[in-house]
Amino acid sequence: MIIVMKPNATEESIRIVTSYIESNGLQTHLSKGEETTIIGIVGNKAKLATENLASFKDVEKIVPVTESYKLANRKFHPEPSVIPVGNTQIGPGTLTVMAGPCAVETEEQLLTIARNVKAAGANILRGGAYKPRTSPYSFQGLEEEGLRYMQTAKAETGLATICEVVSLDAINAAVKYVDMIQIGARNMQNFYLLKEAGRSGLPVLLKRGLCATIDEWLNAAEYIIAEGNPNVVLCERGIRTYETSTRNTLDLSAVPVMKERTHLPIIVDPSHSTGAYKYVPSMARAAVAADADGLMIEVHNDPAHALSDGPQSLTFKKFDRLMEEIRPFAALMNRTI
Ligand code: PEP
Ligand code: MN
Repeated sequence: MIIVMKPNATEESIRIVTSYIESNGLQTHLSKGEETTIIGIVGNKAKLATENLASFKDVEKIVPVTESYKLANRKFHPEPSVIPVGNTQIGPGTLTVMAGPCAVETEEQLLTIARNVKAAGANILRGGAYKPRTSPYSFQGLEEEGLRYMQTAKAETGLATICEVVSLDAINAAVKYVDMIQIGARNMQNFYLLKEAGRSGLPVLLKRGLCATIDEWLNAAEYIIAEGNPNVVLCERGIRTYETSTRNTLDLSAVPVMKERTHLPIIVDPSHSTGAYKYVPSMARAAVAADADGLMIEVHNDPAHALSDGPQSLTFKKFDRLMEEIRPFAALMNRTI
């Protein structure tokens, strides 16, 4: 449940309400807006006499929060969150473009791609060093060596960096080299990994699971935030349906649904959702028009010979064109790239 305080509530009244709740063995979460302060309650509310709370000074109303996710819930935090990532941030007013190869293959490959996506206007360099591949015989990633190349690319281009993590070892390595970690679709409900990501101190990009509902996805975000890490960004990357013409089915309606349910930013990945480079630009434009906070796009210097996800990767020329095409859409949505 949340306690909505009156617009002119004093610090003292807020403190009294908060300490009362905490003295009942519950946790509080404060959200201070321009005018109103909201006190969110996390824990077993059976312990709390709510009729008492309603009579506290400056309490306007008590609203039940029936959803199981609390800290991720927009009711707890009505203002959209802004998530800092390296030298940039994700949230309202900005269209964040994360671009780069599916997998880091060589230092030279990564540097070439980093220079090109930077020149086209991307803000964050993506590159997988730990690849959770469907087949155990496919390229599994360069691991820590790949992370080191990400660090070099950051030093050279100034781009912030993101890399997927698949284990605690990968998290411990990633914190040394990159600005943001990614939990991939296949690990969205790996609750142990989510908790470790919550303790990592780095912002986390949480991709939607292959078959996850919005509710399950938000509960996964809650796992990370509950460990004390509020810096979570969601990524819609397509879900599995009966349709086989595209790799997955891009659920663009997740964008407005998430804007309603959570304060966390949401970005869209048109590469993994369509699985085909030729569909990426139109889905990228649609995502920006739907008010997504950003895009994640796979770009490769030589897609035909990429070690993973070549068919959905854009060449530099195609990525340049896509960036030009999305600029007017971003401007219409009052976002700068
Ligand atoms: C990726 O970003 O390279 C990736 C593996 O994505 P997903 O987890 O969405 O399949
Ligand atoms: Mn990929």
